[in-house]
Amino acid sequence: MSHIHRRQWMRSGLVALSQFLIGKPLDREAEAETRRGIFDAHLHIPSDNGENFQWHLVTRNMNEFVAYLDKCGVRRGVISSSWSNKAQTPEDYRQGNREVAKYVERYKGRFRGSCVITPFRIDEALREIEDCHRQFGFVWLGEFCNYMTNYRYDTAEWTEVMNLAARLNLVAQIHATAKEMQYLAETFPKTTIVFPHLGGSRDDIFARIDIVAKHKNAYIDLSGSGIERVGILEYAAREIGADRVLYGSDFTINEPSAVLARVQNAFLTTDDREKILFRNVERLLAHAGGRKT
Ligand SMILES: [Zn+2]
Repeated sequence: MSHIHRRQWMRSGLVALSQFLIGKPLDREAEAETRRGIFDAHLHIPSDNGENFQWHLVTRNMNEFVAYLDKCGVRRGVISSSWSNKAQTPEDYRQGNREVAKYVERYKGRFRGSCVITPFRIDEALREIEDCHRQFGFVWLGEFCNYMTNYRYDTAEWTEVMNLAARLNLVAQIHATAKEMQYLAETFPKTTIVFPHLGGSRDDIFARIDIVAKHKNAYIDLSGSGIERVGILEYAAREIGADRVLYGSDFTINEPSAVLARVQNAFLTTDDREKILFRNVERLLAHAGGRKT
């Protein structure tokens, strides 16, 4: 750590302490510093074939997608393909994942790619996960959404997906109900799992946070319902620990800056805010990949 870095580090520590004491939002300088690093753990790209999760299309292609993220101050993110999520055949998710790889390459340094499969033809699905990891360097899987093509997580096939993720040390982002979360987090302790969404109802929110808090292999991303309830982010950071809470938006379906507004106004230390906005996902990505010994 250089002298300058140490000074900056001490300064940010003091800023964090003062904000913790008075509960103030970030000052302008700290805000600018944080915004530069914002990393969205949950992005769905618009596909070249027109597939797009947006309910009424306003960002139809990758240029418009990136321009909108710029408008929101989101510079980086993990991207996956909605085409892969809705795959009817392995060829569909292979096409979607290759589109992701193409855009990771085109926007170098801005996005990390994620592989999505469906487990119906399990041998092809497992091969695709290995291919995406080896050929494209993907270390992230998902967001998996079982409701889109109607599969279950408590099956022999899905167990193979989770075990491969653990063996290759990949992060699996899984859309799940509270019951499914409990099953997945408990059954696959060696797999790092990111569960999107705080929850739809009051009971759901507290149940989901409780499950993540109790399982060290589990993380939560803040996209979707729940984040708009003031205080829930602070509760999640207290119960789970800020190290396992990730900023994610679910763009193109949801608004990136809505989640950001809550994170930036929340009663958190600067340190915890930075962990949530980018440091945690950076750490997950840096440590993922390669076989566990
Ligand atoms: Zn999503």
